[in-house]
Amino acid sequence: TSTATANIGVVGLAVMGSNLARNLASREGNTVAIFNRSAQKTEHLVAEHPEAGFVATSSYEDFAASLTTPRTAIIMVKAGAGTDAVIDELLRVFEPGDIIVDGGNALFTDTIRREKTVRETGINFVGMGVSGGEEGALLGPSLMPGGSDESWVTLGPILKSIAAVAEGEPCVTHIGHDGAGHFVKMVHNGIEYADMQVIAEAYDIIRHATGYSPTQIADVFAEWNRGELESYLIEITAEVLRQVDSDTNLPLVDIVLDQAGAKGTGGWTAQTAIDLGVPASGIAEAVFARSLSSHPEQRATAGVLPGPDTSDGVALMDEPEEFIEKVRRALYASKIVAYSQGFDIIRAGAAHYGWNIDLGRVAAIWRGGCIIRARFLNRITEAYAQTPDLPVLMTAPFFVDALTGAQNAWRNIVALSAAAGIPAPVFSSSLAYYDGLRAGRLPAALIQGQRDFFGAHTYKRIDREGTFHTLWSGDR
Ligand code: NAP
Repeated sequence: TSTATANIGVVGLAVMGSNLARNLASREGNTVAIFNRSAQKTEHLVAEHPEAGFVATSSYEDFAASLTTPRTAIIMVKAGAGTDAVIDELLRVFEPGDIIVDGGNALFTDTIRREKTVRETGINFVGMGVSGGEEGALLGPSLMPGGSDESWVTLGPILKSIAAVAEGEPCVTHIGHDGAGHFVKMVHNGIEYADMQVIAEAYDIIRHATGYSPTQIADVFAEWNRGELESYLIEITAEVLRQVDSDTNLPLVDIVLDQAGAKGTGGWTAQTAIDLGVPASGIAEAVFARSLSSHPEQRATAGVLPGPDTSDGVALMDEPEEFIEKVRRALYASKIVAYSQGFDIIRAGAAHYGWNIDLGRVAAIWRGGCIIRARFLNRITEAYAQTPDLPVLMTAPFFVDALTGAQNAWRNIVALSAAAGIPAPVFSSSLAYYDGLRAGRLPAALIQGQRDFFGAHTYKRIDREGTFHTLWSGDR
């Protein structure tokens, strides 16, 4: 006789797994089996949350036996070797038709590999991006499952019940097969890096140019959050800037060491963009800006490099309010470029890996639960609804209008930051990308000439078919 009572299980009960298990247990109709390698975490979670009615298990055999079929388990363990170890154990105790979901931050190529191996046993494997951190896991994350259509039939209703809700819709969709979910989650994080960096650049420029205090700039961001920039990241930026350090009474932002950490997903996004030949320069610059910040030994010696003479202060052409409005527009334009580049990576990844990804739905499920949640995402959904195969997101009419409105200010701010020696890598690289896409002819023709000169790499012509090589006079 079966003792199975749980319709869903969670393996890995650190902060993410515990919160996801509690979220699942709080939804009508779910009974949640839980397992963790070291038993204390399981015991602790059960003791802390009797209301959840968890089915605690202390071996993989017990865990499997407690689940109704098809068994469905979500793994939330340390990504990498931990995930592989748990999958091996589950394969031992699960049966064909069962579903293993990896909710950790796996690299999508690992997910493709795991899905292939697991599928051969008849068990389904779903790599699922989970966004929103600890709070999202508990109260409603944005969920990006990949995997087979068959698994989505079972998983869909469960995931819809725990996901964040934005404008009445659960923030989850079946992204595509095998690694598609983790791929999209990776790009989400890459966009997040760029979004955070453009906000940081806006703050830095305003602070240097106007001399406003962090508290005054907090007010600026709070104001921006009432307009088209409204987003979680702008909202928390105001909070961070308002925070005062209790030990020193100084703005906390002036006490925090200025070396940005990274867990790798932004770097993966930039690397993947390079592999796919996608010019995601804003995302890459955001990753590099964090790397630059984290080399104190290089920064300590870089004082010998001359900067512009700003002894009279940064030359503001405008009143502070007008200047700040220009910075806001530069931020908005750079943000549009970053999202456009991010969706370009997803478009190229889908084509390369054979995934059928609905780009408008991706923007829609990012409206709630996740770090980049923003009003702005509705405009992306609308753009793809109008033109599903839009080659460049920012060429959709709404974004063209937005960029038209922003471009003078954007150029002004990039010029001013260059003249004043204030680093604005994403503001400026986004503008260079924008102008690169617009250019009628690019100096790539000259590059082709150089390549043919030194390496006989050949070139194509604008006036005839074929491949050409010139016998350069300098050829040796
Ligand atoms: P974590 O610190 O990444 O991992 C700790 C958990 O992994 C513990 O339950 C640990 O078990 C288990 N574990 C490690 N190696 C194992 C192995 N070989 N076999 C079995 N279990 C093993 O936990 P976390 O911070 O809660 O994160 C879980 C996952 O979610 C990670 O993949 C992480 O990248 C991802 N994550 C996502 C977000 C997000 O916002 N989406 C945020 C944070 C984390 P023991 O207790 O026995 O050591």
